[in-house]
Amino acid sequence: MQRARALVVGINWYNTAMLQQDQIRNFAIIAHVDHGKSTLSDRLLELTHTISKDKMQEQFLDQNPISRERGITIKLAPVRMRFELQEKEYLFNLIDTPGHVDFSYEVSRTLAACEGAILLVDATQGIQAQTVAHFQVAKKLGLVMIPVLNKIDLPNAQTEIVMKELTQSFGFTADEMFFISAKTGQNVEQLLKAVIEKIPSPRGNPEAPLRTLIFDAVYDEYRGVVAYVRVVDGGVKKGDKVRLFASNVKTDVTEVGYFSPYLQQSEELTCGEIGYVLTGIKDIRQARVGDTITIAKEGAGMPDIEPLPGYTTPQPMVFFGMYPKSSDDFGPLKESLGKLMLNDTALTYSEEYSAYLGSGFRVGFLGLLHAEIVKERLQQEFGLEILLTMPQVLYERREDGSIFEPYMLLRAYTPTAYVGGIMTLCQKRKGTMVDIQYHEGYAVISYEMPYSMFIRGLANDIKTISSGFASVDYEVIGYKPADLLDLEIRINDNPIDVLSEPVYKEESLYIAREKAARLKEILPRQQIRQIIQAVINGAIVAREEIPPFRKDVLAKMSGGDRTRKDKLLEAQKKGKSRMYAHAKIDLPQEALFSMIERK
Ligand code: GDP
Ligand code: MG
Repeated sequence: MQRARALVVGINWYNTAMLQQDQIRNFAIIAHVDHGKSTLSDRLLELTHTISKDKMQEQFLDQNPISRERGITIKLAPVRMRFELQEKEYLFNLIDTPGHVDFSYEVSRTLAACEGAILLVDATQGIQAQTVAHFQVAKKLGLVMIPVLNKIDLPNAQTEIVMKELTQSFGFTADEMFFISAKTGQNVEQLLKAVIEKIPSPRGNPEAPLRTLIFDAVYDEYRGVVAYVRVVDGGVKKGDKVRLFASNVKTDVTEVGYFSPYLQQSEELTCGEIGYVLTGIKDIRQARVGDTITIAKEGAGMPDIEPLPGYTTPQPMVFFGMYPKSSDDFGPLKESLGKLMLNDTALTYSEEYSAYLGSGFRVGFLGLLHAEIVKERLQQEFGLEILLTMPQVLYERREDGSIFEPYMLLRAYTPTAYVGGIMTLCQKRKGTMVDIQYHEGYAVISYEMPYSMFIRGLANDIKTISSGFASVDYEVIGYKPADLLDLEIRINDNPIDVLSEPVYKEESLYIAREKAARLKEILPRQQIRQIIQAVINGAIVAREEIPPFRKDVLAKMSGGDRTRKDKLLEAQKKGKSRMYAHAKIDLPQEALFSMIERK
């Protein structure tokens, strides 16, 4: 008790021993991106005096610098808050979650640690793709949901319509909905009270053997692996000998605590609590997200418990070649990727070599946003300038030479006015419609489509065609045969590896011509003639030529005789063809980069 008292500081004061399980509420806020999750979290932090007003920054839980800069949450963020209602003390564990589809696996992890969720819907936008996706996950896990319409301070809030959407799509009744402004704080306190009344306290048996779910893990240079946990049964404290079920590692607990939102050491994590556990584990791959921590038995025997249901690990969908802009940076890049992987287990990479860019990596990402964020982190946290080559999905090449590609079931959520436009777009993108459903105010259209359409700008096109109102969600459904051809770009007969790629048959000629023409535009003239060829199946389908500089070998001659001039010109021609034959193609780096780099 002495120790615990010395540790409690400031406004986060609370004493575990005094807490009953029925005073705990674990919940998440789920919503489509930009519907106001982080802003609502800010208000809750203020209301519960977790963060004092003068320390408050907007979107406080987005501590990650890239989150702050972009105004999006990319990482789940837990925080503990206290609140008093009718002289009874309550303890909230709130987990803010990312809303972008690339990071939806973070949401399902979060929800597995909670009993309830606030389902937040922007009243100016209505139900969007991630609203539905998250609702379904929460429902499957049996969470109690509180439907909330946000941004009612805005004049274009369509409260009536969105209420109907929520009733029709999810079966909520009007009297269980809350109408708030996360910005002004209107009705937020009532919502907090509803969390106490409606969301159940954690079940779980404090007397049973320890079962703790790891719902996230981060690597900290000083502390080692920090496991974010939800105690399901029993309790855990410093000095406990524990075992990680799936990775079968036995270790000692060196510290436990909660999120203030910073790591705040405490004496014990009791049944139902959310907090963190430090152990002797230094390798994050041993503290697998979804694993169960239990008390270790003497000897090698496995503990006599049922492990908690884990999570499916997210699969990388988009692959890029990643090369340092300066070849000196290969070593630092390798080291930095290793460090990033400690905290980003969705990232995969292996070394690859390009004849034109040198040594680099093939890196797998969850999607394009994930790739952009990793690129930014490499730049901001490690000072590395890198180049990402053309993105590709993971193709399967069968023995008979045929190529298969990943397909998805795409669902577009759109106001009915844009249904036609989206259907035309999806058909052009090799989509096959499988379903369309009309709801109050919006429609859900489902298509089977190659995942690669995301790389080809599908998400943006859907935004544009619907003036920003439609949103999409997808699930990967398997591999299907792809009508792909390998397009090779050659300059003076040298294949340029980083510019070659598989292309759809019907687009192949167009892309071949476009690439050749673009290269002609950006490559500077050289001493020799440069011939650009686009080759498909051994046939040249596009050809461009860049004439050489003509060095004026006659300049020093004034007048003079004709035969000498002819001789000099003849000599120059010979020299050139020799150069031509032996030329190692000299591709200026900027030109190559500008061909590859995405705008
Ligand atoms: P998140 O992506 O769900 O975390 O959304 P944010 O909390 O980052 O909010 C997205 C944007 O909506 C920000 O610019 C917020 O300031 C704004 N916003 C959030 N809630 C409200 C609200 O109740 N009223 C108004 N007017 N703007 C809001
Ligand atoms: Mg956010």
